[in-house]
Amino acid sequence: MDKKTKILIPEIPGDWTARIRSGHLNIWNEALHGRPHRNGLPEVRMEPPEKGLYAERIGEAWYWVCGCERCLDRGKGYSYIVCHEHDRCITCHTHNTELPKNMTRWGKREGFRCGTCQDHLDATRKADALAKAAASGHSESDCSYTDAILCPHCASEQSSDDRYEDEAEAECGVCGGLYSLELHYSVSYTTMVAGKAPA
Ligand SMILES: [Zn+2]
Ligand SMILES: [Zn+2]
Ligand SMILES: [Zn+2]
Repeated sequence: MDKKTKILIPEIPGDWTARIRSGHLNIWNEALHGRPHRNGLPEVRMEPPEKGLYAERIGEAWYWVCGCERCLDRGKGYSYIVCHEHDRCITCHTHNTELPKNMTRWGKREGFRCGTCQDHLDATRKADALAKAAASGHSESDCSYTDAILCPHCASEQSSDDRYEDEAEAECGVCGGLYSLELHYSVSYTTMVAGKAPA
């Protein structure tokens, strides 16, 4: 896509300013819960004429402009939308339309990764972690009273987000091994003056 693309959108008055984006869809004066936008203007939804374009108000008019970070040469960073040409697996670069329809696309910061590549990556990560754990003689005894939650099988650090209770069975996201989790709390003390001070 030409990164200088600038196509006038004659349907949208230039003095409209309330526009949100939802994927490729652009919505002006979005109605919420069945009520019109507080500016009283009618809601209009438009898909761009080509994927990778989004609506931008330039001067006193709306235009379709390029929003694909790959086309804009802004490196490998996050792209909210991508054009048709750049709609590819970030690992094997297979085009989205050439991948089986029912294959999982894993959303990543830079785009998506196809199921085959993700499976391959997961298998490599698992084998690496297990080999490293075996080489270092990692065992259950290395996982007692630790600051982080460690997998007793592969030593990978497990997320501690939202884990406030003991768990009888959890699965390691890296090696798939099962483990149980116990939480330990340490005691601390607070004193406050009660009654009168000693003479
Ligand atoms: Zn592009
Ligand atoms: Zn791939
Ligand atoms: Zn593990």
